[in-house]
Amino acid sequence: MSQKKTFVTLDQIKEIDKKYPTPFYLYDEKGIRENAKRLKDAFSWNKGYREYFAVKATPNPFILNILKDYGCGADCSSMTELMMAYALDYKPEEIMFSSNDTPAEEFAYANEIGATINLDDFTHIEYLDKVLDGKFPETMSCRYNPGGYFKLGTSIMDNPGDAKYGMTHEQIIEAFKILKSKGVKHFGIHAFLASNTVSNEYYPTLAKIMFELAVELRDKTGADIEFVNLSGGIGVPYKPDQETNDIAIIGEGVHKAYDEVLGAAGMGDVKIYTELGRFMLAPYGALVTKAIHEKHTYKEYIGVDACAVNLMRPAMYGAYHHITVAGKENAPCDHVYDVTGSLCENNDKFAIDRELPKIDMGDYLILHDAGAHGFAMGYNYNGKLKSAELLLQEDGNVKMIRRAETPKDYFATFDFCDVLGKLKL
Ligand SMILES: *Cc1c(COP(=O)(O)O)cnc(C)c1O
Repeated sequence: MSQKKTFVTLDQIKEIDKKYPTPFYLYDEKGIRENAKRLKDAFSWNKGYREYFAVKATPNPFILNILKDYGCGADCSSMTELMMAYALDYKPEEIMFSSNDTPAEEFAYANEIGATINLDDFTHIEYLDKVLDGKFPETMSCRYNPGGYFKLGTSIMDNPGDAKYGMTHEQIIEAFKILKSKGVKHFGIHAFLASNTVSNEYYPTLAKIMFELAVELRDKTGADIEFVNLSGGIGVPYKPDQETNDIAIIGEGVHKAYDEVLGAAGMGDVKIYTELGRFMLAPYGALVTKAIHEKHTYKEYIGVDACAVNLMRPAMYGAYHHITVAGKENAPCDHVYDVTGSLCENNDKFAIDRELPKIDMGDYLILHDAGAHGFAMGYNYNGKLKSAELLLQEDGNVKMIRRAETPKDYFATFDFCDVLGKLKL
């Protein structure tokens, strides 16, 4: 299999390791910035365009502040994500609240800080009515689920009919009528129909469905459609032989559908929003870990100092993360290894039967494309602690943007009893 490029060299890693021991997450500021600019340019044809970065992908204030430089807002899905957006001084119109199965206090807080609420379900109208005491905000959004299968050409991309999200066609029309009667003045529609798509056709195809729905909603309910939110779903090539999306082509594809459907219907002022997470960050973050054990039993194992607590995607759904052995970029991949972490779970494997160069103890392994849904999915099973997050800045310096957890953090929720005292923490 061909190789994937890394944004950090062995010498740099050795230097970093002296100050911030492995495992650690490293983000590439230059890569993040260049990509955010490409996205902005791709949609610059639309006056009201805004990317609301899906905070859940990489919930780190320093990362959010970099994206802010390119006009990105924040797409939040929970209380703490909303709190982070508020703490970082996002303007109300820069905060989207796209959640589901939403608790009352999160709706109330989102409304309090002026976030745009994107309703996942028809029954949430009545629920929200009670939470807000009948005082709906002027702008509301509803999430659409067309059901069935989502196809590009003849291939099935995903199965929205089987997903828990969004309202049916009938429900969203009814929802607009009810919300309008309750005083809502401006409307948005949102849909997320396929995840991690590596196809320039996904967004344009989704956009056409949404634009047609926007026209229908205007015609049937008289609602003022302010924005269409294409949500997340643009993917990245995790495997070296996959093609990369071309965001300029994607932007032009959406532009064409916009002119054909919305332009033709006299709705040329509708704003386009996106809520990309993976596309914004995945390639620009890596988990760096060190080989600390080799085991020769029925298979060849390399044990590293990171585990699924640091990066859960392979254990959770067999996700592929490419691995580069730092300094051995050009060595032949003539060994086959399972690369494992230390959890008492046999699925704690970053790679199974992976062809890699011969790995020696102390080698650094770079796990690619971990910048989104990587650190963020971390947990504390086996009492394992989460690593630091570091930023490789444009000038080559490394800045800590989250410190590693310590035992004191792990025991912090026992602060009401004497565990901390006994441990002298
Ligand atoms: C997860 C999520 C996103 C981001 O998805 P990506 O695949 O990372 O682009 C955007 N919007 C909503 C509502 C989500 O749940």
